[in-house]
Amino acid sequence: MKFCSKCNGLMRIAVQGKDRFWVCSCGNQEALSGESVTLKETVAKPKEVEVVDGDVNNLPITDDEPCPKCENKTAYYWLQQMRAGDEAETKFLQCTKCKHTWRENT
Ligand SMILES: [Zn+2]
Ligand SMILES: [Zn+2]
Repeated sequence: MKFCSKCNGLMRIAVQGKDRFWVCSCGNQEALSGESVTLKETVAKPKEVEVVDGDVNNLPITDDEPCPKCENKTAYYWLQQMRAGDEAETKFLQCTKCKHTWRENT
């Protein structure tokens, strides 16, 4: 949890590509390490920044697995080993919108 150095609002973790940083509703952005960062065009192109809430804030986001329930196009994903080593990892996805969780069919 982190508070904005400008407005004292609660900041949220945003993911842009491989980078993670804090964002505030006032537009302030700070690196996870606490240093200020400048990311140009973030405000102009908000679709490239996925704001993540709470528990799932360490999970990467994919935009090619649409939610089967609400058809939202972005989902968190993670890999999980179902049995001890004798099976390939299974990909799980969670809709960023309705939080529906499903298992990728391979
Ligand atoms: Zn702020
Ligand atoms: Zn959904």
